[in-house]
Amino acid sequence: MMRLLGTIALFLFLTAITQIGGIILLMSLLLRRWFGALAMVASFPVLYLIGTFFLVPPLASAISGRVPLPCSGPASLQSASPLYCLLNRNYVTPRLFDLAQALSRSTEDAFPGTVTRTLDGNFPFFDGFPLLPHLSHDDGRKLDLAFHYEGGGLRSPIGYFAFQKPLPGDPQICPDQPILSLRWDLDWLQPVFPKLPIDIERQRMVIDWLTNEGKQYGLEKVFIEPHLTARLNVSDPTIRFQGCRAARHDDHLHIQLAD
Ligand SMILES: [Zn+2]
Repeated sequence: MMRLLGTIALFLFLTAITQIGGIILLMSLLLRRWFGALAMVASFPVLYLIGTFFLVPPLASAISGRVPLPCSGPASLQSASPLYCLLNRNYVTPRLFDLAQALSRSTEDAFPGTVTRTLDGNFPFFDGFPLLPHLSHDDGRKLDLAFHYEGGGLRSPIGYFAFQKPLPGDPQICPDQPILSLRWDLDWLQPVFPKLPIDIERQRMVIDWLTNEGKQYGLEKVFIEPHLTARLNVSDPTIRFQGCRAARHDDHLHIQLAD
């Protein structure tokens, strides 16, 4: 009984963080029945990698029309961490793919050598299947982008959770964390991250591009915290605050396209 509960929990966990991991687990369990426990343990990573890098991309394109963003390489558009590709969290609609490519080219034209780094996109399959902890990343039209920092690196190895907190004099919003909120402050984690300032010029160019050229690709919303909107001196009806119950957006930029 405990083994069954453990298997169900592992199935749910793998499905929640990778979408296909639970199915791959079931395949490995079938192999255990025929070839023993060692076959199960050895087959899971092999089947998972084959599925992730060879089967899922063409299936996603055929079933949901989503395409994977680039993982790494010399290009100006890359995933901030290989984890996003390894966990199948880098899928977007073709229009959002084109927007990300065009944004990265324009940013590199304006600031040579700049790499635009993508964070969580969406899973490959099924509208309405959320990419936890982002409840809205469930249809291929949402993508998070890492901020540009002075020096060109990232503050956090995965691009998230290194918050640029409001300075004295900045708009102070959500001073008290609401109950049942995804607005994590993670104060205990902040000392771990290097104190790199946002590259104001580069980041402003990105938001200006999104709120102008980005609309040709159907850009509907950009989520960023109000104190950064003020610091970057940008304004547009598409620039929104996500509210106090959703994840904060002073560690990354969230963009989404209209239907
Ligand atoms: Zn997002």
